[in-house]
Amino acid sequence: MNQRADLHVHTTASDGQCTPEEVVEMARALGLRAIAITDHETTLGNSPARRAARGTDLWVVPGVEISAESAAGEVHILGYFVQPRGNGLEHKLRALRQGRLARARKMVDRLATLGMPVAWERVREIAAGESVGRPHVARAMLERGYVSSIDEAFDLYIGSGGPAYVPRRRVTPAEAIAMIAEARGVAVLAHPLRVAGIVPELARLGLQGLETSYPGYSPDEVAYLGAIARQHGLVETGGSDFHGPEVISVELGAATAPFEAVSELLRRRPRSRLHHSPVESSEVDRLV
Ligand SMILES: [Zn+2]
Ligand SMILES: [Zn+2]
Repeated sequence: MNQRADLHVHTTASDGQCTPEEVVEMARALGLRAIAITDHETTLGNSPARRAARGTDLWVVPGVEISAESAAGEVHILGYFVQPRGNGLEHKLRALRQGRLARARKMVDRLATLGMPVAWERVREIAAGESVGRPHVARAMLERGYVSSIDEAFDLYIGSGGPAYVPRRRVTPAEAIAMIAEARGVAVLAHPLRVAGIVPELARLGLQGLETSYPGYSPDEVAYLGAIARQHGLVETGGSDFHGPEVISVELGAATAPFEAVSELLRRRPRSRLHHSPVESSEVDRLV
């Protein structure tokens, strides 16, 4: 076993291809020391993964990934060690997921008007869960032969600015960080390279880490992000953003952090429920 941790992994609980149990098995086969389950807007993959890893040497960090809209564009905030029960986190995430569902449905409607009908039932079947996303719509398009790859579906139709693209009202980064803190979790900015300018603001709002190691980041870019992390006292983390080979061609463990990053994140957990959060995450409830 090595001492590496892949702290960014998706499962079938959102738009990943592998079940939480399969991901645990793969991580063990790779000899990883830890993984974090970070599904989009849900914590439902955490318990099955932790159960599957029980009695083994693999650590499973319970997590979540929340999409937020900032002035700099879309940012994704990872929450580690979140406790979804008793503080309404999963309830708030469910509201966000329902927004995601309505948006996917609208994109399917737009595709129909563009002469590319796909069955909504088929998209739901491909998603095989609650959290329907654009990759599922893309796979339905691929099945019907409208595109020759998932990338092409994004590039030509459902990517930002495409004719079937539908924007979605998201939480702000401040709201996402507050939701995570209220669930006693630690907030980390995912794949930060393109939005590095927003780090000072997020650090003031309670951000604790930066995902400096990510597939495709060059050594120079990792060093650049590492300097920003040190400047703001942030933990340097890393993860592959694994979704499964048919969704994104990145392997589990393709980017990792040393295991010490996990203990440092754990050390930074809020000790008790925060009472003085700069933003009330209950504001998320109005998005329903
Ligand atoms: Zn992301
Ligand atoms: Zn992700």
